[in-house]
Amino acid sequence: MGIDGEKLRDIGFIGTGIMGKSMAGHLIDAGFTLHLFNRTPDKAADLIARGAIWHPDVASLAGVCDAVITIVGYPVDVRQVYLGETGLIANARPGAILIDMTTSNPSLARLIADTARPRGIHTLDAPVSGGDTGARDGTLAIMVGGEAETFHRAMPLFAALGKMVRLLGGAGAGQHAKMVNQIVIAGTIMGVAEGMAYARRCGLDAEAVLEVIGTGAAGGAQLRAQAPKMLGGDFAPGFYIHHFLKDMGIALEEAQAMGLELPSLALSKSRYEELAALGYGSDGTQALLRLYEDDPGV
Ligand code: NAP
Repeated sequence: MGIDGEKLRDIGFIGTGIMGKSMAGHLIDAGFTLHLFNRTPDKAADLIARGAIWHPDVASLAGVCDAVITIVGYPVDVRQVYLGETGLIANARPGAILIDMTTSNPSLARLIADTARPRGIHTLDAPVSGGDTGARDGTLAIMVGGEAETFHRAMPLFAALGKMVRLLGGAGAGQHAKMVNQIVIAGTIMGVAEGMAYARRCGLDAEAVLEVIGTGAAGGAQLRAQAPKMLGGDFAPGFYIHHFLKDMGIALEEAQAMGLELPSLALSKSRYEELAALGYGSDGTQALLRLYEDDPGV
């Protein structure tokens, strides 16, 4: 058993959606015994076929695991999974490590750490960047908040999921770092959409322009991943607009609490709210291009 200081073996995983499904698969490949729970059981079927063990609820999973990773949707889901009598903290074994990789509130990460500590349970907030591709390829950037000792114990898990893993401070620091990431992306993706809209409107071959500018100063991960999808009219979700709205809301709230104005972030949020109001909240974030078309439904 891998409790306190020993090797981690039995790993729980909650949230087998776009990101979690690939991430859980890497943990199976790395040789861990994987225990699963997801709100919609069907989404765990492939992993169960690969040897993962299904649990009917959070509590029964928590009781047998050395560490549990969660990557659910919203802070409200994180609360439900962690807190209360049926949650992870009430049911985990003393010495276990609970790692939340959902993009969530820094304040909730601190509350989870403070609630878990008196029970001898260790926590990390460890949100990720790199998208569905990064999850699939095991190349995520992982931003961690928590105690150094817990971080080092959890390293074999992080190593299976990502290439860049860094401890950035105490509880909540990982979530704050993820907000920095989302603030940068919010501005960048508006630039990518506007560049592609302009290229098309002035009659250039937008794909050719993309090839050229991708090697210049405008090159970068958002241009590389999102612009071809925009030009191809592929608006399927890699990263849901409604999740991005959640992230921008958290970042704006945190910034406001610090007395920091972020007008570019506020503009990006309002553009995405417009898109969601048109019924496209379950599209991927690249669907921002729709707002620049004469008919957003094309
Ligand atoms: P997703 O496909 O919606 O996956 C979330 C999974 O968690 C779903 O399968 C959902 O169940 C499950 N879940 C939610 N609440 C639950 C609960 N209370 N108990 C058990 N299971 C629960 O979303 P995703 O794209 O993987 O994103 C997950 C998180 O990572 C989000 O916070 C997102 O912001 C963040 N993130 C996403 C990306 C990306 O590119 N996709 C990149 C970085 C970070 P159902 O199947 O029933 O909905």
